Formats: sequence, structure tokens, C-alpha cells
Amino acid sequence: MYTPKIAVIGSINMDLVTTAPRFPAVGETLLGSGFAQFMGGKGANQAVAAARLGAEVALVGAVGDDAFGRELLAGLQEQGVDTAAVKTLANTPTGMANITVAEADNHIIVVSGANFGLTVADIEAQEALIAAADVVLSQLEIPLPCVEAAAALAQKHGKPFILNPAPAQRLPESLLAASSLLTPNAHELAISLGLPEHTAAHDLFAAANHRVVMTCGADGALYYDPQAGLCQQPGFAVQAVDSTGAGDTFNAALAVYWPLGLPQAVRHACAAAALSVTRMGAQGGMPSAAALAAFLA
Ligand code: ATP
Repeated sequence: MYTPKIAVIGSINMDLVTTAPRFPAVGETLLGSGFAQFMGGKGANQAVAAARLGAEVALVGAVGDDAFGRELLAGLQEQGVDTAAVKTLANTPTGMANITVAEADNHIIVVSGANFGLTVADIEAQEALIAAADVVLSQLEIPLPCVEAAAALAQKHGKPFILNPAPAQRLPESLLAASSLLTPNAHELAISLGLPEHTAAHDLFAAANHRVVMTCGADGALYYDPQAGLCQQPGFAVQAVDSTGAGDTFNAALAVYWPLGLPQAVRHACAAAALSVTRMGAQGGMPSAAALAAFLA
């Protein structure tokens, strides 16, 4: 049986989620109503989602030499992710997201910590891992030069490089050129290209040389087919409970099912992401390959 090898170059965070009856005013101390801790970071989430789908996954990233770092490494390993290329940095905190949920909304402060201690040399040291991968997957929660180095190595070894350009920032032309595929939502795509927010999808796709799969929430995703032009894969109707991590599951599935060709890979990605929103938490609903196959049957 074919087992895809996926190299994920990306962030690892501990998400600390506090729930409160309302947001505190500046200078106010408020009693919260709950607290929970989740493994997060787009890199770690995408690595776990790909592993659940049966891929052989290696993650390149960094954590701090602290309790969160150790817990995250153990959690990733438990999910079957190879963490040999995750470095542990002294005197730097593990990345974390401080999330307050109140009034059906949230406030989030991300401290990148060790994620921004990752260097180009760290990525270049993993050339063999990238060369051995079937697909290389990255995002923008690590220093941009590291993403560029990963893209360059993927290109050098003829490997597809999927870039989930989130959080959004203007991308250098060289990175756009080195990416096989971008996987933004509409807002992220416009920012990645330095175009106005409301630019028509056709124009956004053209500006990115059509190497885009654009996620559209419950409406599924748009992709470009050389014969048919802009195509929509409709979203799968599910009972949505929590959309956190839907994008991460989408990206992982796209990488895992890449060999099926873009239309089928996008269909699988939409189905996997739809399953992921039916459960709480970023990683709670990430499906196994068997669950995905049953859903698509
Ligand atoms: P993030 O998860 O970081 O917010 P995003 O904005 O890129 O990422 P979305 O477009 O919201 O992600 O969702 C990604 C994919 O998840 C969509 O393309 C779709 O396939 C699926 N999805 C999201 N929400 C739903 C939903 N309510 N019902 C069915 N599928 C959904």
C-alpha cells in the first residue's frame, strides 16, 4: 500500500484557552469560568491531521526547553508524528496562544517564542528529509526566510511545495514562484498578492498563476483546472460545532491526497475538513483515512 511521506515545516504552540463571562476592562481582574489546554500551531496541527490520515509525517520546527515543549513533543509522538527534526531551544519559551473566549467571541495573543528561533540553517540541515518527502507543507507562523529555504529545497528536489499563507502577509515573488500551490482563504490570497481585499476571484487566481486552492468555509473550495477554468468543490453538509483547525485539516488532506490529482485532492480535503468541524477543538475532529473513506462512500 502507498503511504505518502509528508514533511511539514511549521509552528508548534500550546493553546491556553480561558473562558470568561465577559472580557475584562483594561486594568480589571475578572474571575474566569473555565480553562483548557490544547496542542496547536498550524505546523503541529497539519502534521497531526496528515498522520491521522495515515501519512508518514515528519515535522521540522522548534519548542522551548520547558514543560509545554516536552508535553507538545510527547503529544506529537503519540499521534505518530516524527519529531526528530524538532529542535529544543534553551532560554526561549515554547510558542503559545493565549486565548480568551467570552461573549461568543475571542481575544488571542500569540507569543511565537521558539517558533521564531528556527533558522535557515535548521531548515537546510533537513535537506535529506525534504528530498525524501512526497509533499512538503508549510505555513507562515515561522520566520519567512525559513519558509523560503524550505520552498527552495523542495523545488531543488522536484517535490510539490504547498504553502498555506496564514497568518496573511505579502509574499515575495520568489516564494510565489517556488510554491506549487497556495491554500489561502479569499482574504489571505489578496494580502499574499498585495491586491485589494475585494478583488474578483478570477483576478486573484490569475495574479497567482492559478496555483491556488482557495478555501471558502462551508461553501467548500475554489481551484483552477487548465481545461475547465475556475472550479468549485462544494462544501459537504455537516452539523458544524467548531471550525477551529478546519483549514489545517484541509491542508493536510490536500498534501496526503495530492497524488490523486487536484480535483480529487480538493474533494478529499473538503470532506476531511467538513468532518473536522463536527467536533470541538482543532484536533478533536481530524478524521482517520478510514473515517474519511466511509464519509465519501
Ligand atoms: P482556518 O481554519 O485557519 O480558519 P480557513 O479560513 O482557511 O482556515 P475555512 O475556509 O473556514 O478555513 O475552512 C477550510 C475548509 O473547511 C473549507 O474549505 C471547507 O472545505 C471546510 N469547512 C469549513 N467550515 C465548514 C462547514 N461549516 N461545513 C462544511 N465544511 C466546512
